[in-house]
Amino acid sequence: MRYERDEKTEDLLQGIIAQEEDFIDIRTMEPRICVLNCDQIKKSEGRLVFADIKPVQEQYKVLCEFDYILTVYERNAALLSPEQFKILLEHELRHIDIKNTTKGITFGTVGHDFEDFYAIVDKYGLEWSAANA
Ligand SMILES: [Zn+2]
Repeated sequence: MRYERDEKTEDLLQGIIAQEEDFIDIRTMEPRICVLNCDQIKKSEGRLVFADIKPVQEQYKVLCEFDYILTVYERNAALLSPEQFKILLEHELRHIDIKNTTKGITFGTVGHDFEDFYAIVDKYGLEWSAANA
């Protein structure tokens, strides 16, 4: 398995964060998000996984300047149109869960259901972004 940083997709991600009203928490708290491409043909329950996002654990932050790692399974994501790919990134960003606790700001994720991206495309098709605007 090979991982490679993808700064071009990181730029795309920042564009989505800047535009989408719902991402006010992300704009305010500015978690550092790294995008990696992975050549694994990842599957979950028989379906292709296009991407996932994970918070960087506290002890690893000593070694790594990021708060989140968004992994794109590039061989699966290659099946998506550019528009679908943007929806995928937006979807992954919606898993980001930022909490302001007594211990300070925590960067976590919520409800990563690997099937929910399919559900969105099935239900809303490519109009998903517009429908939620
Ligand atoms: Zn998801």
